[in-house]
Amino acid sequence: MSHEGIRVATKQEQANQEARNQPLAKIAVTPEKVRVLMTEGKGLEIDWADGHKSAWSFAWLREACPCATCVDERAQQGREPGQPRPKPAALLPMYAPPPKPASAHAVGRYAIQFNWADGHSGGIYSWEYLRRVCQCQECRFSRDEAAGTPN
Ligand SMILES: [Zn+2]
Ligand SMILES: [Zn+2]
Repeated sequence: MSHEGIRVATKQEQANQEARNQPLAKIAVTPEKVRVLMTEGKGLEIDWADGHKSAWSFAWLREACPCATCVDERAQQGREPGQPRPKPAALLPMYAPPPKPASAHAVGRYAIQFNWADGHSGGIYSWEYLRRVCQCQECRFSRDEAAGTPN
């Protein structure tokens, strides 16, 4: 349970913002293997050319959609990419199936696009974007570290 109330830009968010502006090495944003675990309904896995491995669930990816509409919506709600949207308490609970793509395809050599089962398909997930939002422990830890180090 998270309490979404008044939000100010935290140190962490500022550090994330700064980290986002740092260029990444080519080898860090070149996928060696891309696996879309569609039948399992699990998510996306990428092995990068620098030996790093990343994995994201479809639910996470759906909430991290990089299209302009979703980016705006998250900015308004103060959500980080992948952070679930707040549940509207006033509405009747509706069954929402876990997000998963009906299909996925490569966009040129730089990105992947999902056609989500809910009909949304505008988001183009570039390799660079995905690498920057890697959810492995190591990356999450180093993003936290960066946030804790003033400069
Ligand atoms: Zn979107
Ligand atoms: Zn990582």
